[in-house]
Amino acid sequence: MIHIQNYINGQLTSPNSQKYLDNIDPSIGKVYSFIPDSDNTDVELAYSAAKAAFKEWSILPKEKRSQYLLKIAALIEQNIDKLAWAESIDNGKPLKLARTVDIPRAAANFHFYGTGILHYASHAHSMEETAINYTLRQPMGVAGCISPWNLPLYLFSWKIAPALAAGCTVVAKPSEVTPMTAYLLSEICMEAKLPAGVLNIVHGLGAKVGNAIVSHKDIPLISFTGGTTTGKQIASIAAPMFKKLSLELGGKNPNIIFADCDYEKMLSTTLHSSFANQGQICLCGSRIFIERKIYEKFKSDFVAGTKELVVGDPRHEKTKIGAIVSQPHFEKILSYIELAGKENGKILCGGKAVKLSGELSQGYYIQPTVIEGLPFDCRTNQEEIFGPVVTLTPFDTEEEVLMMANSTVYGLASMLWTQDLTRAHRIANNIHAGIVWINCWLLRDLRTPFGGVKASGVGREGGFEALDFFTEPKNVCIKL
Ligand code: NAD
Repeated sequence: MIHIQNYINGQLTSPNSQKYLDNIDPSIGKVYSFIPDSDNTDVELAYSAAKAAFKEWSILPKEKRSQYLLKIAALIEQNIDKLAWAESIDNGKPLKLARTVDIPRAAANFHFYGTGILHYASHAHSMEETAINYTLRQPMGVAGCISPWNLPLYLFSWKIAPALAAGCTVVAKPSEVTPMTAYLLSEICMEAKLPAGVLNIVHGLGAKVGNAIVSHKDIPLISFTGGTTTGKQIASIAAPMFKKLSLELGGKNPNIIFADCDYEKMLSTTLHSSFANQGQICLCGSRIFIERKIYEKFKSDFVAGTKELVVGDPRHEKTKIGAIVSQPHFEKILSYIELAGKENGKILCGGKAVKLSGELSQGYYIQPTVIEGLPFDCRTNQEEIFGPVVTLTPFDTEEEVLMMANSTVYGLASMLWTQDLTRAHRIANNIHAGIVWINCWLLRDLRTPFGGVKASGVGREGGFEALDFFTEPKNVCIKL
């Protein structure tokens, strides 16, 4: 079985502790490789390498940095089958999804920032004949990048690519639940001849490796994607150290459906936005609000569509719902379904674990689940479940649905289905969310600001916002 290695100073290395953690294939519930159980000493080595590399990387002409990123993007594309296969085994997601979404997007992230940096410019502010100010945007130094398990390479590269493009060097930690494609990325970086120390990948637990990165006194900025509770912990350590923080956290996204929508388009997209990646995308719509006039029709069509989604081997072409990422997460989702029952929710379909046959019998599978009859303010409707579970709630007025949609502590994404343009603008303006999709879902232009409000996060990724994050503005004023 493979022993994954850290990538420090351009080399694949074992952890100082020489200890490894189990890496489980969730589709069969068995260990299939081992992850370095690294600690603060490994982070220190990675930091030293990144600090040394910063001297040259930060002043390398952006055209040269661009070439490295474009080479990495090309190598990801060349290795798409291998990477998609690895992502599917590590995460439990359908291979088809990894092949068509996760891995192409990881390549796109490197490509986007490899070219984006060439167009990144700073401002000048003229004071007529008195003076001129110009702004330098200087790379901040060694950046700490920490990512979650749901879209492993996709989100890991979404941080690393802008950091490297901006001229920072990086100490990065992928999720210990899904480390494999980050490991394969190390090999790709070696093949691309990325200078040693520019990117360092340290594997291991959040409490050890993540914490060592966050509390490192010489790492001035942290880009984190993960749960809100972890984000809070990170902020409590980083804020008194005056670190720059980008936090992309949890969500409980509303999907608001008006009777005048394009019904067929809405129905097929809503099935996708509810259950893609087993509902484990931070942008999935977990609370579906339906205008009462079409509630019964929607309910019956949506439940029928949900029952058709095939739960099965992630490697099969027909599988729509693969395995849940880990046993603890599987148990958490089932506990929320139980909670919904206690809160008097009616389970319209699903609600149970699925026992597949053969070697998949120990895998973590859950039926896509639809629940109705819950008040908008109960725990099931307020807390993030992050699984294939959605609730249906009818509404009568725009005011009522906005109140319910905005009632959670979260504010990441939202979806709105209507043909009434004025209403669409009005709701988009008033909804508490960083992203509003009108008559679509997950339609992404990488130039747009990406992030959430309230407990869904601080700061924005995407486009030039990410390059702003990884650089420090310095104003230079010249008296004329
Ligand atoms: P998590 O917070 O448990 O872990 C995320 C990462 O943080 C992992 O690499 C983990 O090892 C590390 N970590 C854990 N404790 C740490 C600590 N004390 N210090 C530093 N690092 C630590 O999240 P998860 O379970 O991996 O991911 C699921 C969560 O991520 C969900 O809440 C989901 O909504 C959220 N998410 C948000 C976005 C977004 O863009 N807003 C995208 C994807 C996922």
